[in-house]
Amino acid sequence: MTATLIDGKAFAAGLRERIAGHTAAMKERGITPGLAVVLVGEDPASQVYVRSKGKQTRETGMNSFEHRLPTDTPEAELLALIEQLNEDPSVNGILVQLPLPGHMDEAAVINAIRPEKDVDGFHILNVGRLATGQKSMVPCTPLGSLMLLRDHLGSLSGKSAVVIGRSNIVGKPMAQLLLRDSATVTIAHSRTQNLPDLCRGADILVAAVGRPHFVKGDWIKPGATVIDVGINRTDDGLVGDVDFAAASQVAGAITPVPGGVGPMTIACLLANTLTATARANGLPDPEGLTP
Ligand code: NAD
Repeated sequence: MTATLIDGKAFAAGLRERIAGHTAAMKERGITPGLAVVLVGEDPASQVYVRSKGKQTRETGMNSFEHRLPTDTPEAELLALIEQLNEDPSVNGILVQLPLPGHMDEAAVINAIRPEKDVDGFHILNVGRLATGQKSMVPCTPLGSLMLLRDHLGSLSGKSAVVIGRSNIVGKPMAQLLLRDSATVTIAHSRTQNLPDLCRGADILVAAVGRPHFVKGDWIKPGATVIDVGINRTDDGLVGDVDFAAASQVAGAITPVPGGVGPMTIACLLANTLTATARANGLPDPEGLTP
């Protein structure tokens, strides 16, 4: 392997330590940040995520409120809970774990969250604010990926970036953040033609596809920085969207899976909760936690 390993696990641990420090300082002023996580149904992956979110929230010194609702909960009941959390001053962040059961309108549920408490950054107002360069809540996985890129590269200005994937959760907000840092951004997706050639021009390559080892080693520009967002469960365990063994012979730097972007996501959720708490109390944004 010739590429530098971008150690998201270590970076996330450092980030959580800084967040814990900020939280302790807030508590001395009588403010305890609180994050409410709502899980509807029994999806096993969601249960794992919700458990680790709660654990890490408490470890950072924040209050964690967990709400579990059965799969057949009427949407109106979920909306009523969100309204109650919107009004609760001890709750600074609200996260509704996705995916929701099929009978619910995901967009309506997300848009019921008060934008200031929308720590996932999926509310239509936060999406619009990010797109227009205003202060917003920024989706956690792209925010974590941006932090790793900046830490490794410093300035992203003028760099050619290719994002593979156009989801609202990863691809689109990732592209917005790269654009905001003055990279020249291309978004690729399932209908993109000549994807390998497109990737070969990228100084920064972000893969958010959801297909194991989709990006091959010979798609990588020598020296490029590769961020692998993919989390794919296979018989060989968790693997990313990038063929790591081949790509790491060509790239300048690359995130591993696991241990790359994954741990950054929850750390950034805590960062967003802290930022939301600061804003709710008229305090400046804690340094280094927002783009
Ligand atoms: P998604 O399924 O919503 O989007 C996948 C995107 O890939 C789509 O926009 C699609 O156009 C594109 N795509 C599919 N096939 C393609 C092809 N052949 N060529 C080019 N593009 C193609 O997925 P998502 O929610 O954006 O997640 C993507 C991956 O990131 C998944 O593996 C997911 O598990 C992972 N993920 C990780 C984290 C984390 O914390 N690290 C968070 C969210 C998602």
